[in-house]
Amino acid sequence: MSDCLFCGIAEGAVPATLVLETTHAIAFRDINPQAPTHVLVIPKAHYADLADLAAAGDGLLAEVAEVAHQVAVAEGIADSGYRVVFNTGSHAGQTVAHAHAHLLGGRRMAWPPG
Ligand code: 5GP
Ligand code: ZN
Repeated sequence: MSDCLFCGIAEGAVPATLVLETTHAIAFRDINPQAPTHVLVIPKAHYADLADLAAAGDGLLAEVAEVAHQVAVAEGIADSGYRVVFNTGSHAGQTVAHAHAHLLGGRRMAWPPG
């Protein structure tokens, strides 16, 4: 989608700090990190949110989750632990309408989140 920020990042039109790229997904650092490691993992193709990504049933959701774990390993936080979050819809505070997983780690996190 031409007016989608994360499509722009996936296409290379919008700059971002890439961490990992696979055939169908990319991982890049969040511009406003909430933890020492805060990386966003997105499918390169446009899906509005987790609901759309799950409904597609094309294996992309699994690829996004696998990339999140691979980044956690690469960042050295796989053993200490990490959190993967898909904010979905308004009550969850989703602000970018292109499905994305937040990978957060590098510090102890509170549960439940606010
Ligand atoms: P959401 O609130 O939709 O779950 O998460 C959107 C995330 O995208 C936020 O954590 C925000 O900091 C991040 N973000 C917004 N604009 C940009 C940008 O231009 N570049 C990068 N790397 N992250 C962004
Ligand atoms: Zn998009």
